[in-house]
Amino acid sequence: MEDGILTQRKGQIHTKGEEPFSINCDKESLAGAVSQRACVFCGSRVVLYPIADALHLVHGPVGCAAYTWDIRGALSSGPELHRLSFSTDLREKDVVFGGEDKLYRSLIELVDRYGPKAAFVYSTCIVGIIGDDLEAVCKRVEREKAIPVIPVQSEGFKGNKRAGYNAACRAMMTLVGTGDISGISTVSVNLLGDFNLAGEIWIIREYLEKMGVEVVANITGDGRVNDLRRAHGAALNVVQCSGATMDLAKMMAEKYSTPFVRASYFGIEDMAESLYRIAEFFETSSPGIMARTQELVRGEIEKLLPVIEKYKKDLKGKKAALYVGGAFKAFSLIKAFRLLGMQVVVAGSQTGTEDDYRELHEIADKGTIIVDDTNPLELVSFIKEKGVDVLVGGVKERPIAYKLGVGFCDHNHERKEALEGFVGMANFAEEIHRTVMSPVWRFVPREESL
Ligand code: SF4
Repeated sequence: MEDGILTQRKGQIHTKGEEPFSINCDKESLAGAVSQRACVFCGSRVVLYPIADALHLVHGPVGCAAYTWDIRGALSSGPELHRLSFSTDLREKDVVFGGEDKLYRSLIELVDRYGPKAAFVYSTCIVGIIGDDLEAVCKRVEREKAIPVIPVQSEGFKGNKRAGYNAACRAMMTLVGTGDISGISTVSVNLLGDFNLAGEIWIIREYLEKMGVEVVANITGDGRVNDLRRAHGAALNVVQCSGATMDLAKMMAEKYSTPFVRASYFGIEDMAESLYRIAEFFETSSPGIMARTQELVRGEIEKLLPVIEKYKKDLKGKKAALYVGGAFKAFSLIKAFRLLGMQVVVAGSQTGTEDDYRELHEIADKGTIIVDDTNPLELVSFIKEKGVDVLVGGVKERPIAYKLGVGFCDHNHERKEALEGFVGMANFAEEIHRTVMSPVWRFVPREESL
């Protein structure tokens, strides 16, 4: 495990079984290491931009705004303003004389043209450096246009992607608590941490509907400003993943005493467990909910198991590597691969905390490489060392896999097929089978690549 690893990064890599668990994580990326991790601004953009009826304006050079809907296509069942990317396109002159006036004029024009329910204004590196007063401009436009105009303090350099999640949660918290909550059921939840990249939140909402649970706000996939305003009326926050929206759940617990549970919608075990956890919470207020949930889970698993068995025959014994945003997703993926008879031999994340990695270490098999905030050279050396058959990652990992001649499954930005819920597990099995067993690998020599 030595090739391609920088000395200063050694503490961020651990192989299970070699020594007692320890990992150095949740820190800024090593300068020059070409991290696979995104910046603070990207972290906040990931979380906020699926709010479909809001205006999202990036205050900064146009390059920052390249992170658009086309890269991460969160679906909406209604308005699609979030698909448009706006930037103040700061140039040299603005950097010298300040960009506040340009920001004001851009906001006024965009609000007039598109009539959004709210506007999020993202701060980028250069704005942090020149010191534009984002808050003052937002307040002015808010007064003039009578919609919430929310500054997102997400200067790219001021931390890691996790700090961007926090900036997004603080921005959303300014909306929560401003709407009318009358008429909301006592058996109700907000769904936090799903971005509806391929319609997943609709699958989960359908399960909840069958259980008799009302969903007040999608936070944020297929999200709406007015739902966020009413989110404090829900009885429970269901938080997927460990990173992106956990801070919002904690803020709501503190301010509105809204309890939260963690959930994962990937794989059979975690999907079922998440639904049972919700049913358990509402058992007193909704008698019979547990029985309804059990019936739902039983029915879904009966449909799913033959599909899993079909693909397992070919996949048994194959190896997988994971590199995902939040470590929580990695837990579910390890279990999902086991169900397919496969072993995860490399597992890493961009934003895992020590607790996350400790949990990952618990469930990983002996010999698994656990890595925080990796870079392309490291990933290449791990994939080669472990003889990986498929890499699961996002847009930045795809070329690494293909250049090495191994299969790839996008579990992140670019996927077009839902991988959550029981139906998502069937899609996942089918996709993994398709890429691992593809005849193309006969023509791509694995070892000679790169
Ligand atoms: S905010 Fe900074 S680090 Fe992020 S994309 Fe813009 S320039 Fe790059």
